[in-house]
Parts: sequence; structure tokens; C-alpha cells
Amino acid sequence: VTDKIAALPDDRPYYTFECFPPKTESGLVNLIDRIDRMSALNPLWMHVTWGAGGSTQERSLELAGASQGMGLETCLHLTCTNLEQGVLEKTLDRAKKAGILNLLALRGDPPRGEEYWTASSDDFQHATDLVRFVREKYGDAFCIGVAGYPEGHADSPDKQADVDYLFEKQEAGADFVITQLFYDVDVFMQWYRRCRERGITIPIIPGIMPIQNYLSFRRMTNLCGTQIPPEILADLERIQHDDAAVKTYGVELAVKMMRQLYENGIRGFHLCTLNLEKSVTRVLEALEWVEPAEARTRTSRQRTLPTNGG
Ligand code: FAD
Repeated sequence: VTDKIAALPDDRPYYTFECFPPKTESGLVNLIDRIDRMSALNPLWMHVTWGAGGSTQERSLELAGASQGMGLETCLHLTCTNLEQGVLEKTLDRAKKAGILNLLALRGDPPRGEEYWTASSDDFQHATDLVRFVREKYGDAFCIGVAGYPEGHADSPDKQADVDYLFEKQEAGADFVITQLFYDVDVFMQWYRRCRERGITIPIIPGIMPIQNYLSFRRMTNLCGTQIPPEILADLERIQHDDAAVKTYGVELAVKMMRQLYENGIRGFHLCTLNLEKSVTRVLEALEWVEPAEARTRTSRQRTLPTNGG
């Protein structure tokens, strides 16, 4: 995917979408249809998440394979802890065979019910170990992304050490960074500059999640330890029982953040779709980074019309 970034003109904005594998077969079929529609929005590539401990390995691979098969460059997330022996190699081999050549290499979170994380294997203590493993075993076959934390990682007592560890991931062979969600652009920009000063030169792509629903937003930001600026929290509390108003607020906030980031020189954006297409579509339309709906429908109709050989 970094070749795709390099091929863009310097000032051209780009965006990626993230989806997670649904629990049921019918959910998977529906999502594949939705991804097909989302592809008309021209994301530069697509991300598919991976359940902690490999809990979604089959569906993650199936979804990533389907997305790649639709002609969307796809990046598969992969964690390296709490996995059964052999799962990593098996997954990497299967991904490569399916043409999925981009990974987001992660450590993973504690297993359900456990508060703190402890390494289950000496070989894989941190995401850097997975980056090294893939580089040693597969050379340059995969383009490797890693996670970054503008507000610091929850386990990390020292924010500068966190940036040092991110530098270490780059030195181990990482090609790009996707960040944890955040809602304070100034906090992101300060951290971004610290990363650049530290010598992190690979693309750093901020994670943006348009808010869809008040309760799930609070649950998710609590889980990730994301700070919410007090004015945003106050706005949301006022409209929390009106789902449509929350969605509109989420779209407007994402647009405002992305405009601010773009003005600060950020070109790439990682959009967490929560498997829904409407909010990201509204965001990209408001930014005028996609054609209006009518023109998109025409283009996709033209794309899918069979040629008559004439
Ligand atoms: P690491 O980089 O290993 O960092 C974890 C902690 O260890 C940090 O405190 C760091 O400062 C410290 N550390 C790092 N390197 C060293 C070192 N060499 N020595 C000492 N300390 C070190 N989880 C999933 O299960 N599935 C997903 O699909 C998924 N997708 C994600 C996508 C993004 C964009 C992000 C930001 C997170 C995602 N996660 C996912 C969550 C992720 O697994 C957790 O945040 C996890 O707690 C840390 O993963 P990491 O790869 O950042 O770990």
C-alpha cells in the first residue's frame, strides 16, 4: 500500500476503510455486498481486523480474501499473542496465497476477563517481534503497518518511551503507521511532530471514527482510554437519545477534524466504518473528496455493465 501512497500527487488526500468480520455467515455476505458499494468511494485500500487471540481467523481471512478479490488492495490485521502454535505461519501463508500482501502487525490485548496483559511466549512480547518475524521469514513479501498512539498506550507510563518503541518498529521493518482513535487534533499534531523529530519517516495515518451512537462511542473510547474534549462530550450528552442527531454530529465532527488535519499537512486518513457505509460516505461527500452520489452510481453502473463484444 505504500507504493500506492508514493504514486499519489503530494497534496492529494487519500483514505482507507476499516471493517471487522461479522459473526454470522449472512452478516459476512451482507458486508461483502456493502464493501462492493464502498469501493465506489475509492478508498486507497481496505483494512480487515483480527479478533484477539485469533478468535476470528477464518472469517478475517475470508473477508480479507473477498475484499482483495474485488480488486481492493487489502490489509489484514494480525496479533502475535495468545495464539496457538503455528497459527501465525499458517495465516501468513494463506494470506500470501490469497494475494493479501499488507499486514497490520499488532501485539494484541489481554484475553477477555483479564485486566492486564502478560506475554504468553518469549518469542512474541511486542508488535516489533511480529514485524521482525515477518521480515525474517517472508522478506519483503508483505508491506507491514503498525499501530501508533497519539495519547500514549494504556500500558505505557512514559509517552516518550512509546515514541521510541514506535521508532523501533520502523527499524524492525515497518512501512507505515495507523493510529489509535482520538478526538483532539492538537494532541495528535503534537505527537505527530514528536514522531518526526524522533526520526520516524514512514507514513503516519490518523485513525478517525465518525461517531454513530452515543453508548457505543462511550464504550469504545473507555476501552481504548481515548480522551474526549469536554465540549464534545457536552454536545453529545445533550443529543444522546437522538440517534440521527448523534450520527449527523459524528459526521460533522469527522469533517472538521479531517479539514484541520489536512490544513496541517496530513494527507492520509484511516476511517473506522464500523461496517456501515452511510457516515463515511457523508464525510467524504462533505469534504468533496468523492463525486456526488449520482455520478458515482453512473460510474459503478458503467463498471459493472457487461461488454457486448462489439
Ligand atoms: P506494542 O507495540 O507491542 O505496544 C504495547 C505496549 O508495549 C505499549 O505500552 C508499548 O509502549 C510497549 N512496548 C512496545 N515495544 C516495546 C519494547 N520493545 N519494550 C518494552 N515495551 C514495549 N487488536 C486486535 O486484537 N485486533 C485488531 O485488529 C486490532 N487492530 C488495531 C488497529 C489499530 C490502528 C490500533 C491502534 C490498535 C488495534 N488493536 C487491535 C489493539 C492492539 O492490539 C492493542 O492496542 C494492544 O494493546 C497493543 O498493540 P500494539 O501492536 O500497539 O503493541
